[in-house]
Amino acid sequence: MRRLRNVKIVATLGPASNDYEMIRALHEAGADVFRLNMSHGDHDEIRARHEIIRQVEKDLGSPIAILADLQGPKLRVGTFLNGAEDLEVDAKFRLDLVDKPGDSDRVTLPHPEIFEALEPGATLLVNDGKIRLRVEDCGKDYADCIVVAGGIISDRKGVNVPDVVLPLAALSEKDLRDLEFVCQLGVDWLALSFVQRARDVEQARDLAKGRAAILSKIEKPTAVKSFDEILAASDGIMVARGDLGVELPVQNVPPIQKQLVRKCRAAAKPVIVATQMLESMIESPMPTRAEVSDVATAIYEGADAIMLSAESAAGSFPIEAVTTMNNVAVEVEGDPTYRDIIEASRSAKRTTVPDGIVAAAREIAETTDVKAICCFTQSGTTAILTSREKPRVPIIAITPLVGTARRLCLSWGINCVLSSGDVTRFKMAVVSAARAARTEGYASETDQIVVTAGVPFNVQGTTNILRVAPCEERLIFSTDPE
Ligand code: PGA
Ligand code: MN
Repeated sequence: MRRLRNVKIVATLGPASNDYEMIRALHEAGADVFRLNMSHGDHDEIRARHEIIRQVEKDLGSPIAILADLQGPKLRVGTFLNGAEDLEVDAKFRLDLVDKPGDSDRVTLPHPEIFEALEPGATLLVNDGKIRLRVEDCGKDYADCIVVAGGIISDRKGVNVPDVVLPLAALSEKDLRDLEFVCQLGVDWLALSFVQRARDVEQARDLAKGRAAILSKIEKPTAVKSFDEILAASDGIMVARGDLGVELPVQNVPPIQKQLVRKCRAAAKPVIVATQMLESMIESPMPTRAEVSDVATAIYEGADAIMLSAESAAGSFPIEAVTTMNNVAVEVEGDPTYRDIIEASRSAKRTTVPDGIVAAAREIAETTDVKAICCFTQSGTTAILTSREKPRVPIIAITPLVGTARRLCLSWGINCVLSSGDVTRFKMAVVSAARAARTEGYASETDQIVVTAGVPFNVQGTTNILRVAPCEERLIFSTDPE
């Protein structure tokens, strides 16, 4: 499916986007990646959505990435005798391990590890940060707190502990079950919630065993502090602004977003900017001007992808939300200032032959009238390096591996085409690149394209050839250097 923009759109599926017609319409409107949120929906529902996405992919003939988002170690309080309590500022409130319903004085926090790690002075945030508790005194099975910001606390509300590195397994029992389930189902990306350290990512990678690429959600202050190691251990990143804005003051989120996006580009790893991008569109067919501006900002910063959560999963206007993102992207990317910003922020650190080749391909696209950069890729690395250059013309990634094609759907500007796998000579590669460029509508017979590849073929990490080639088959043969 040819897009008129480079930034990718991730749409979360949910009750509002459950059936074939809706999922297909979302893809046609612009969703390149579908997110299955493991915090909601049972395995049967997830399996049904997965099946529909693969059917849409088959019917429309273009690869689609599926991202399964694991819930991670999300803390929750127990239940209350009366369902809820109103906590007043300056009141005392106790969290403990006692297994009985809560009241206005106490509630269960069924996570013994937390009490081990807490210290007086630590802050606990309940219900999206609305309620703020300060620990005054604590032991191995209780924490006596003072209510700093009050409000209604009710059954199973989420708890955030921003300033403590929690000695929690990165993957809960549920996550382990979900991980194996989605890997067997066949997803392309696994997103890890509440990552704290590189070791968390390595654990998931060991369990995924190459079946999915690993994306770390940055939503804790500890993850921001250890970002460089987490980035090195991950295949991609999500700036998860929802929980990040609970665990840190909200005004810290925009600078962190900018820094993370920049670091991901330097590392050539895709980055998603997520949460509340078009929040008002859950209930309204029109976004606010501020939301449009937020989406535009992420695109100007050079994010690989922008994401919809409840807007597409549970809102009343899923298609309008995708269409809005698509329209904003087309407009921003057509702005000359956008190219100025993208080019000024290009990282110059190049150390390998593939780095040199992708930079040369981009230069040729800037200097001449070539219509596309076509790269033959096994692991996807050359395509991602080309994507980092953010060239002026479309990138066509040609690969025999469907898993590679799907994973690349998350990266800026990459259009994926599956090759039959029998490309063993460079001349054949040029012919099939020209054919792909023509049939996908990127170039005509009279145009030229850039082709990059590695010889020998079908060996990973060998990009060593660049050719400027005509799209007309007869000319490819008559100008062949061999
Ligand atoms: P969530 O993650 O939607 O799974 O909470 C995204 C975020 O926290 O921003
Ligand atoms: Mn989150």
